[in-house]
Amino acid sequence: MKHFALLALVTSLTLSATAQNPAGSDLDLLGFRDSLAERKLEAQFLAVPSAALAEEHLRTLTQAPHMAGTPEDKATADYVARKFREAGLETEIVEYRVWMNYPQEISVDVTAPASVKMHGPSPEHVATDAYQDDPRVAPGFNGMSPSGDAEAEVVYANYGTPEDFDRLEKAKVDVHGKIVLVRYGKNFRGVKVFVAQERGAAGVLIYSDPADDGFKHGDSYPLGPWRPESGIQRGSVGYMFFYPGDPTTPGIASIPSLPDSKRVPPAKAEQLPSIPVTPLSYKDARPILEALNGPAAPAEWQGAAPFTYHDGPGPVRVKIHLKQDYQFRTIWDVIGRIKGSGSPEEWVVAGNHRDAWVYGAVDPNSGTTAMLEAVHGLGELLKTGWRPRRSLVFGSWDAEEEGLIGSTEWGEQHAFELERAVVYLNTDAAVSGADFTASAVPSLKEFLRQVARGVASPSGGTVYSAWHDAVAGKASTVQTEAIGTTPRPPAAQLRADVPVGDLGSGSDYTVFLQHLGVPATDVSTSGPYGVYHSAFDNFAWFKKFGDPSFEYEQQMARIFGLEALRMADCDALPFDFEEYGNEIAVYIREATAKADLRLGKGKLDLAEAEKAATRLATAGAAIMKKQNKLPKDLGRLNQSLRDAERAFLLPAGLPDRPWFRHAIYAPGRYTGYAAVVIPGVNEAIDRGSRDLAQHEASSLTEAINHASEILERAAN
Ligand SMILES: [Zn+2]
Repeated sequence: MKHFALLALVTSLTLSATAQNPAGSDLDLLGFRDSLAERKLEAQFLAVPSAALAEEHLRTLTQAPHMAGTPEDKATADYVARKFREAGLETEIVEYRVWMNYPQEISVDVTAPASVKMHGPSPEHVATDAYQDDPRVAPGFNGMSPSGDAEAEVVYANYGTPEDFDRLEKAKVDVHGKIVLVRYGKNFRGVKVFVAQERGAAGVLIYSDPADDGFKHGDSYPLGPWRPESGIQRGSVGYMFFYPGDPTTPGIASIPSLPDSKRVPPAKAEQLPSIPVTPLSYKDARPILEALNGPAAPAEWQGAAPFTYHDGPGPVRVKIHLKQDYQFRTIWDVIGRIKGSGSPEEWVVAGNHRDAWVYGAVDPNSGTTAMLEAVHGLGELLKTGWRPRRSLVFGSWDAEEEGLIGSTEWGEQHAFELERAVVYLNTDAAVSGADFTASAVPSLKEFLRQVARGVASPSGGTVYSAWHDAVAGKASTVQTEAIGTTPRPPAAQLRADVPVGDLGSGSDYTVFLQHLGVPATDVSTSGPYGVYHSAFDNFAWFKKFGDPSFEYEQQMARIFGLEALRMADCDALPFDFEEYGNEIAVYIREATAKADLRLGKGKLDLAEAEKAATRLATAGAAIMKKQNKLPKDLGRLNQSLRDAERAFLLPAGLPDRPWFRHAIYAPGRYTGYAAVVIPGVNEAIDRGSRDLAQHEASSLTEAINHASEILERAAN
């Protein structure tokens, strides 16, 4: 899924010329007794991923629209399974039965004034594109929207954030019973709908403004990479911040034999919005916007259309008619395993989703392609007699777009075995350009930097040096930030180094990290990309703009595979709890400052929590000595490092949303994909509830102290 183009202002970022390597010399790999032997093995692996084969995978995977649950989706599952088997992986296709909608009747019409005509959604069409006229391209629609009809005056609500609705309220523009028109960008689309529903809207239209991913940025497709006027962003509007996965089975797996009595009836599923929602292209939204009266919207609300945007309401009226075909449908995860020779019960899980709203060249099959070439490389190592120390498990997830369904159901089904998983490695829209970006829990940020130092960049040097140069070049300019992550403000960049983002939600790491406590990473390389979730995210776009030579596909296959190889083979797990503790301490100081403002100075006491974070950093530094020294009893050391990660799980979960159990990271209820850090405390402060915030602070303190105890015991 991944969301597009959060614009983040990076005002200053100081980078040290050479970054610190805690493991010592640049040749030393964190966690390996014999770095030289590992480097030799890695060189063998890195030689395998092929740009030509990557092109073949992507062409095959994206030859037809392949929405989750369709025969074309099954064909991609069969292809991935075949490639896994050819590489020597023990492979199975796992089915789940899940509640999803396809569009049956979708229409949006302007009903007044008579002078304005619009009947949508218009087909996605540009001058030339070989893929656009396939009858299997579904019309623009939103996953998890209910069926329904609504006819009302329109109000324009900018990005549909709580602050945007607050401004309308202050301006006395009533959204109650109205159809709210919002633009894509800034937050997860489900959040726009959630807030509109809370404020009493009758329906929601979400459109793509050219200011956000269209001609304002450059030429639109097919001339350039940006969204053409008929391009529609599909996407789920499910309330995944309550729980992701099948809306009818929170916390349990939707295996085909699950009786209906064990399911939540769809009408009662908290994940499903209650008002009709559907997306529009700029072409269809423009006449509505142009016909709005009422006060002129403020400067920040103006988009790129050549007229002034007004708040409304009306006089333009719109009728939304949605008939969704909801069914329990079969989806297919492909799972490929290489059994570990030393600690087979320790799983290194790596995954990418395979289903797409339409063709999905970037999102997600650039990632599937990278994963297949990574698996190809590991397959060549298997032929030489190599076996990983830990078990490698590759997942090709289905129905991610509808709500992270394939990964969530599989994670829920294997919760017990995943207690011994060491890491989950994700990639989603892996390639849409040349700028490397990464997100991870703090304990894996240095690991990611080290992996990036081990792979060549098509632009010269290593991925790390290209990343470093790009960040240094972009400091003090507006940076187009990829995707699904929150860039921390520079103050929180604790190492003077390339920024690794925090994991919010919006891709398949969610169940692993936030429900099961498995530390996770997410990697991609991105660029100008305006065709997200449209029919134009296809092979022709990719070949022209995304990665014409497939060298970045090759790079991402190497990065993804190297992550998996190092995690599977390292002697000591490379988790850096000193960085974790230091980052948590920053989160707590930021929360303290916010609480002083929101709740009154000194009202919320986070001193114990901050002490706990400092203690964790100290314990992390102590155990890092042991990780570097590599004692005989590595089993005990590694188990402690794993247990310390899992100690961040809150036994009762977060308030009102127990599925989310991680004390440090969750998707925000009002930000969606973007991470809310120390979510229990921060969301209680946002609600203005001091008592809840104090209660959540003690749960947080307890979790951090628990992690510290585990590390301290192992360090002594
Ligand atoms: Zn995706």
